[in-house]
Formats: sequence, C-alpha cells, structure tokens
Amino acid sequence: MAAAESRAFRASLLHFRDDPGSVRADRAFEHFEDGLLVVENGRVARVGPAKDLLATLPPGFEVVDRRGSLILPGFIDTHIHYSQTDIIASPGHNVLHWLENYTFPEEARFAEASHAAEVAEFFLDELARNGTTTALVFGTVHRASADAFFTAAARRNLRMAAGQVMMDRGCPEHLRDTPEGARRDVRELAERWDGNGRLHYAITPRFALTSSEAQLRVAGELARAHPNAFIQSHAAEHLEEVASACALFPECRSYLDVYDRFGLLRERAIYAHCLHFDAEDRKRMADSGAAAAFCPTSNLFLGSGLFDVAAADAAGMLYSLATDVGGGTSFSMLRTMSEAYKVAQLQDQRLTALRCFYLATLGGARALRLDDRIGSFEAGCEADFIVLDPAATPLLERRMRAAKTLEERLFAWMILGDERAVKETYVLGENRGLTPN
Ligand SMILES: [Zn+2]
Repeated sequence: MAAAESRAFRASLLHFRDDPGSVRADRAFEHFEDGLLVVENGRVARVGPAKDLLATLPPGFEVVDRRGSLILPGFIDTHIHYSQTDIIASPGHNVLHWLENYTFPEEARFAEASHAAEVAEFFLDELARNGTTTALVFGTVHRASADAFFTAAARRNLRMAAGQVMMDRGCPEHLRDTPEGARRDVRELAERWDGNGRLHYAITPRFALTSSEAQLRVAGELARAHPNAFIQSHAAEHLEEVASACALFPECRSYLDVYDRFGLLRERAIYAHCLHFDAEDRKRMADSGAAAAFCPTSNLFLGSGLFDVAAADAAGMLYSLATDVGGGTSFSMLRTMSEAYKVAQLQDQRLTALRCFYLATLGGARALRLDDRIGSFEAGCEADFIVLDPAATPLLERRMRAAKTLEERLFAWMILGDERAVKETYVLGENRGLTPN
C-alpha cells in the first residue's frame, strides 16, 4: 500500500461503531461537531474533538481546515456493474427484458480490452465524484473486463472487489463461457489480483438462470478453493425470474436454495436484491453469513419489488446499500439512501437517516467483512473518506440553515443531495480528485 503523507483534517466528523438499528443510537456512532481526523501513512491514527487533539500534534503537522463541512468514511457500494455504465437510463420493462435488450448487447463490447479500459477509468472517476471509495463490481464474461478493471483500480490504490462473470447458458452464444473456461479464468485472475494491493477477487456467476449445474458446481469448487474471495450474484429480483429459477432447478426448495446447494452461501457472499424471499430464505442468509445488497433505485426503476427491511432485520439478515448501476439510476449513494427510505415508506417501515448513513459506510464494510479495514475511523483503518458540503446547492444550503440536529442534517443530505454534495474524496488520506496520478 503506497504511503500517503501524514495530515490532520478539521471538520465536523461522523463515523459509526455499530448499527443504529440494533443498538441505542448514541452508542452506534461518534460525532464531533468540531473534530479532528489524524491520518498517518494513509491510515487513521486518531479521531476526536479538535480542542483536545490539536495540542497533541507535533510542531508543523499540517492541518487541513474543512470546518463547515462534514467528514465521514467513504461510501461503500456493494453491488454495481461497471460494464453497464453506458446503458444507465435505458428503459427496461423488467430485469429479463433489460438483460436481453440492453445488457447483453452492451456487454459484448467488453471483449475489446481498449473499450474495457476506457469504461473502467470513467467508472472509477464517477465513483470518486460520488464519494464511493469501495465497491463490489461485476465485469462481463470477458477476461479483458476483469483485467481492465483491476488494472485501473490498482493504479488508484483503491480497495475494490470485482470478478469476471460466469455465464454458460440463457444468453447469446457469443457471451457464453464454459464451466472449464470459467474455472481456468477465475483461477488465473484470482492468482493475479486477489490480495494484490487493496484488491479482492469475486467469484461471479451472473445468476441461476445463466449458469448450468456444471458451472455452478465449478463456482462452488472455486469458492472452497478461495475461502477469502468474494462471491457475488443476484437472487430473487423479479417474480418471473424466480419462477424460471425454480423451473430450472426443480429439486431446490427456493431460488436461494440453488446457490446454497452449490456451496455459494457463506460470509463474503453478496446477493443483490433478495426481494422475493420467504422466512426460511432470510434465516438461511442470516445463518450462513451471506449478505443482501439492497438496490432501491434499480428495484423501483425495473419494477422488481420492494426490499423488506423489517423482515430482514427480524431475521438478523445482513444487508447493505448498493446502486446496481446500470439497472440502478444513479451512482450516488445519497440518492440511493433517499430511494431506500421511500421503499421502506411504501411498506410502512422506517429507515432513519442515521441508519442509511450506517448502511452506506460501516454497514457496507460489515457486509463485505472488511470492517477491520474500512467503513469507520477506528484507529488503524484505511483513511478513505469524503467531505460533504452542506451548501452544495442553494436549496440544500437553505434547508441546512433550518436543520438543528445532526439527524436533520443527514436527512437533508440524503433527500436533497447527490454528487454535488461530495466536495472531496480521499483515498488513503490523499485527495484523488477525478483523475489518477
Ligand atoms: Zn446487478
């Protein structure tokens, strides 16, 4: 990990230590109205009130003054397709129509390494612009898609997880791999990229409809061979998809059970959507340590359904927030929080602003089992953080003037905010701006 210079940042500071949905809110987070974040060699050294910590700094230690803004850990997006950047905002009737009409034609372009590289750079710029410092990312079925993404992320020193899609049926012929081909590619890619700098490999069967039994068996073998690698896929997004999965695997109790039978439910397995689950599915998720990625903008846009926050909480199922671009309609985790709040509202459930900010930071890190490294300002964590501007737009500035509490301010940011509210994005204590060094 490249060492960044040591500096302190003075601002209003917020980070979470636990889930405000499961412990008393005042124990779930630390907030310093006039705080200091001390970064040494790219890691968090200390965090606390500025009046106490300023006196402890050695003479000449640089203090970056961001008073008036809020500094918090960088956002974590636990489900996104970089290869769908160019088809965001394309109308799809439902997810299956979307795949056939937009996703598959677009993903075919990633056979070309230069195209993959160009999109990867734009995508990572866009994540930085939106304050997202870590993501779990889908490539395409092409080897070039994974290599291009990892190469770009490595150059920027980002903590990222990604994988090449495994897909051997239910899609156009030219986008198919084979179980053997996928096994070879995943082994080579994991060898090259997993643990390379801050990168992680993710075993990536697209979903049950596009993998044969033989291929899911290979995915399970790879999961056993790489116990620290991520597994990412989609589950129970749309009712038509659920019916197809159950028809393809009639011996399975449910859609989720397909993944379970092939050994694909465990810690560091992240399933996007998880909308049409029953109580047993949720319990199985909780028991296995797998996590759901709640993708509200995508679920609303594709008309897939509503993520049941209360049922997930009751089952003790781990979940976090994700954009699911390009089925999702924004790279912004602030806009994603806003839509998550509304999805809960439609079911007479509540997601507080504190909970949403937790889910987009420490909650995401916990879902990815990376909370010992990212997602908070605990001493030793990697200093990936963002600076939120309360005056990013005239309306936000006006609303903020009337906000009396931290919770009111966070709520205004998540309902009115987008990438304009993200003033700066820091990776390992360095301002990454929009382009890599
Ligand atoms: Zn997706």
